[in-house]
Amino acid sequence: MDAIWKPGVHKTGIMGGTFDPIHNGHLALADNAYYQLKLDQILFLPARIPPHKQNRPEGATSSQRLHMTRLAISDYPYFSLDQEEMNRDGVSYTKDTLLRLKNSEPETEFFFIIGADSLMSFDTWYHPEIICSCCHLVAAIRDDIPLKILQRKAEELRTRFQASVFLLDIPKMDISSTRLRDFRKHGKSIRPYVPAAVADYIEENDIYGGHGQNEQL
Ligand code: ATP
Ligand code: MG
Repeated sequence: MDAIWKPGVHKTGIMGGTFDPIHNGHLALADNAYYQLKLDQILFLPARIPPHKQNRPEGATSSQRLHMTRLAISDYPYFSLDQEEMNRDGVSYTKDTLLRLKNSEPETEFFFIIGADSLMSFDTWYHPEIICSCCHLVAAIRDDIPLKILQRKAEELRTRFQASVFLLDIPKMDISSTRLRDFRKHGKSIRPYVPAAVADYIEENDIYGGHGQNEQL
């Protein structure tokens, strides 16, 4: 773990997700990781077809999710977009992404940034041991998963996969893309939860079946 504090080592965070839509919870998570772990940059990697969401209900198109991600990160000079998963055919596996990044930059330390729900299900992912050999895991509290449970899970992953796990201390953000899609479906505003440019884009393109603002208040 000492390696991450070595001077001169380039540290890149990876923020993967469906981003359907990207929201302030994603941005806050990434920004907190950036500052707390003193990262050099963070790559946002919208997934094309995540393995656990192959049968997801109607959402935004891939190009819309890509565009919303680009809009959302544009104010952060140390955030950038990696379109590799979007360009790849078929299911996107995190382990392939991590192997690609690690092979292209063997000297870089990678930090895979996830929420607590992802940490809790991490051992069901495809080849968690390969993911752990390529990067550190950085997990933040989410929903009502108690810190004690997260600490226990982190310990289990350290033992099973020799994982290097950091638990991030961030303010809890009670927000998810599922809730935002639901808000839109019921005509509620999502503006407080996403960057203004993303809200404008969603409204202009009538994404997620919004039928006007606040009609059910
Ligand atoms: P959905 O409801 O469609 O699953 P989501 O809000 O969970 O969307 P994802 O794209 O699935 O967003 O999440 C990408 C990553 O961001 C995951 O690791 C998830 O745990 C994390 N994340 C998303 N929202 C938050 C939040 N509010 N607080 C902490 N982590 C979050
Ligand atoms: Mg999710």
